[in-house]
Amino acid sequence: MSAAPVVLMYHGLGTVPAHQDPDNLFVPVDTFARQVDRLLQRGYHVLGEREFIAWLDGAPTPSRSALLTFDDGLVSVLEDAAPLLAERGLPSIAYVSPGLAGAGPGPDDPPERRLLDDSGMAALADAGVTLGCHSWVHDSMPGMTRSELARATQDAGEAIGAITGQAPRTFAYPFGHHDAAARAAVSESGYDCGFATYDGDGRFALPRVDINATDTPRTFDLKLRRVYPTVRRALSRLPAARRTLHRLVGEADRR
Ligand SMILES: [Zn+2]
Repeated sequence: MSAAPVVLMYHGLGTVPAHQDPDNLFVPVDTFARQVDRLLQRGYHVLGEREFIAWLDGAPTPSRSALLTFDDGLVSVLEDAAPLLAERGLPSIAYVSPGLAGAGPGPDDPPERRLLDDSGMAALADAGVTLGCHSWVHDSMPGMTRSELARATQDAGEAIGAITGQAPRTFAYPFGHHDAAARAAVSESGYDCGFATYDGDGRFALPRVDINATDTPRTFDLKLRRVYPTVRRALSRLPAARRTLHRLVGEADRR
């Protein structure tokens, strides 16, 4: 198998004040554009879903390859990310939860927290973004009963297929949480692979690198390195070391 592609996990785009975005989910549009252009300048080949699955099945990919993913189906993926990527002819995958179509924002949330409804999801697919499954209503999956797992994997996938006309091929675990039963449910429902966040476990829990509002050009470059998920995993057990790393590489200013 050729070198592993780097899989980047985004959520939404937009400039959201830090106090309204405690999880740093929103990357400003111009920052996102610079990150994508940085990937291209550095010679990365941005993979489509089909190419990524082919790589999993043993096909070679260019030594620098990246997959762009967006979790949750926020409206900005359709309004901001899709046109920017289409302009550059780049593929991506957006993970949506059909049971939450059109939901939000909550009373304390910024307007950017709104999720795509069914027609928005269909428009996203029409705009060239592949849709993947992010469970039914974004509940954490470890500990779910069999029927809850079937709802999160099988039923959610069928609902997305009914919207786009295309059954989703890949799955992303809400919060990146997975256990053996969740991975088995994703596999048995016919998905080609599943994405976690940092703690990978085989084809049905592939690691991704999260890109968020705190990233700077320097941390972005660092996260493209293949060792990053391993380093991040090790440092998460050592909070003091993580703070030191942040001091060394810096963090983006938040308003
Ligand atoms: Zn999510």
